[in-house]
Amino acid sequence: MIRFSSLMSSFTWRQNGTYPKFKISHIPDFNATELWLVSILQRLKEPKLIQQVHAHIVVSGLFRSTRLCNRLMNSYASCRHIGEINKVFCFIEHKNLVSWTILINGFTKNGFFVEAIEKFGQMVNCGLMPNAITISSVLPAVGKLRLILMGKSLHCYWVKQEYRCNVFVQSGLVHMYSKFGCPIAARYVFDSMSERNAVSWNAIIFGYSHNGMVEEAIGLFNLMRRSLLMDTFTIMSLVSAAFGVGDLQIVTQIHGLVVKSGHDKSQPVETRLMEMYIDVNFVDDAYCIFFEMSVKDVVAWTLMLTGFVKSANLSMAVEHFNQMMATEDVELDSVALIGILSGCSSSGALQQGRRVHALVIKIGIEGDTFLGSSIIDMYANCAKLGDARRFFEGMAVKDAACWNALIAGNGMHGYGNDAVHLFQEMQDLGIDPNESTLVSVLSACGHGGLVEQGLYIFDNMVARWNLFPNQKHYACVVDLLGRAGRLNDAYSVISNMHLQPGVDVYGALLGACKAHGNIELGVEVSQRLFELKPEDAGYYVLLSNIYALSGNLEGVKSTRSLLRSTALKKDPGLSSVEINGAVYTFMASEKDHPLYPEISRFLKDLIFRIQEEGYVPDTKSVYQDVAEDLKKDILYHHSEKLAIAFGLMRTKPGAIIRVTKNLRACNDCHSSCKYISKVFGRALVIKDKNRFHVFHDGNCSCGDYW
Ligand SMILES: [Zn+2]
Ligand SMILES: [Zn+2]
Repeated sequence: MIRFSSLMSSFTWRQNGTYPKFKISHIPDFNATELWLVSILQRLKEPKLIQQVHAHIVVSGLFRSTRLCNRLMNSYASCRHIGEINKVFCFIEHKNLVSWTILINGFTKNGFFVEAIEKFGQMVNCGLMPNAITISSVLPAVGKLRLILMGKSLHCYWVKQEYRCNVFVQSGLVHMYSKFGCPIAARYVFDSMSERNAVSWNAIIFGYSHNGMVEEAIGLFNLMRRSLLMDTFTIMSLVSAAFGVGDLQIVTQIHGLVVKSGHDKSQPVETRLMEMYIDVNFVDDAYCIFFEMSVKDVVAWTLMLTGFVKSANLSMAVEHFNQMMATEDVELDSVALIGILSGCSSSGALQQGRRVHALVIKIGIEGDTFLGSSIIDMYANCAKLGDARRFFEGMAVKDAACWNALIAGNGMHGYGNDAVHLFQEMQDLGIDPNESTLVSVLSACGHGGLVEQGLYIFDNMVARWNLFPNQKHYACVVDLLGRAGRLNDAYSVISNMHLQPGVDVYGALLGACKAHGNIELGVEVSQRLFELKPEDAGYYVLLSNIYALSGNLEGVKSTRSLLRSTALKKDPGLSSVEINGAVYTFMASEKDHPLYPEISRFLKDLIFRIQEEGYVPDTKSVYQDVAEDLKKDILYHHSEKLAIAFGLMRTKPGAIIRVTKNLRACNDCHSSCKYISKVFGRALVIKDKNRFHVFHDGNCSCGDYW
């Protein structure tokens, strides 16, 4: 009694005198108490106060009142205390439909879908038939668990009850069918509704967007705009739909709709739009949204950072990162640090990478293994394998990602044996390799020429590590066999694949065909590649080179004409070089680069000098159909040549030039690098998409196979 009155006094105090002061002696009888408690519970929002009322109900024997207990469950539901709801439910002697419904609803709202379905079954077994609220409470669980049969039975039951028009049940059905991947059924229910609210509209728009029918979603969205106001949820599901399709026209259209509806200033919508633009590589548009945001949180800052990194704009990424550090309200977290490290890694920006490493130590989070693996990856990609190793050894806790980063680093440098040792060591320490580890070690075996070890690992993937080979593993093993000239074995690996062979797998085989001059197989493989990826110019060039090597001019001609008839996309070649801590990035044929006039003079002289030494431009590497002179001009302006020329100009004699490229190096650049290393007496460390090439005195560490 004391506890109860103290609760009441605290309650009256909290309500600021809304209720008359109350003493326990004022309660006339049991029924009145019950009623009074129900009315109090309706207003209670704080779990602590609800628990006190709960205690009183138990102590005073009032828990025999189903109505009061239901009310108590509802109060717990409002603060999402699912455990308490369940406790009260178990206590109720005479559970009615309302009790069951509150429990089921509590379970679905809190993500306990299996439990919700179980309770629903138990309720029906007790002979209680669901009403509209029970059904709309269980439908989200049915949709989420994709219980199609149960969903259909519920729908039938509902129709038979002739309660057909209930906006909650019908919206629930629309949502459920969308989750089942049946937008037509969802639309059928939607069209039969006599009354619709925002939830129903959201459900059908979600249904179309979730199932990739963006045009239909936009059509409905336009209809919805006329009938009522949409909420952030509608916008988000529409934006997500456009995001999934990745079609720029749709993206722009939806952005227009968002602005028209006035929702463009809501932070979740802004963030989602930024994400969408970054995904289709329209980083400038993402930046416009970011720039205009009134409140920029750490998520928005990090997202923008990822955008710059993804578009290989490291100088903007660094500037953005520095601004982010200087912003008081934004605290750097490991996601942002991993973002900037990945930028340093992909552009070979060692000095900036070191700065970030120092910052990580300063903040004191170098023990974070995610971050740790990014640091290892950064050093390995900046050709500082020793530093990567030292950092790795200093880590107190290492997970598979850290080992993977170091194994991959060794592989890229061509140190196959070290990679295999690390792979063994990792297992000796009880760390299970994952899919990425196997990709790293197989690729390391390929680059290091360790055919037998690689095959052994590949053959034992399932038996030893319970890992099924994916496209990447197959591509690695095809590459491994191809390098060793075992084209037939590579071909039979592809024929026996348990997956449909993809672009990477055939691409690896085509490279091998070229290296070993196997025209017949090369033509067959090219055919598959043209079917899989008709817009990629690289494969046409490779095939035409295979024909050219074997002197088949007819073949060269036909490939070239095929090439002309296809609309081709080629990722722009980007190369970066770091000089005194600043990263300079060059795009192929970028003649409007501010440094170009300076570089151009140097480049002309460079070409002249290596030609004297025997370099002949390999115009077969050019896929554009232009005059011979223009082809040479295109070759001389490949991004890595611009970066190398700039590096030679700006560094002291004898210094090593390090260049990082986003694509695979072409034949011509590879051979010119050999000449440059000899003529200028410089070591060139070029990292392309797959590996490091170390050019020294006219030779390359890759042995001309890459
Ligand atoms: Zn090139
Ligand atoms: Zn090489």
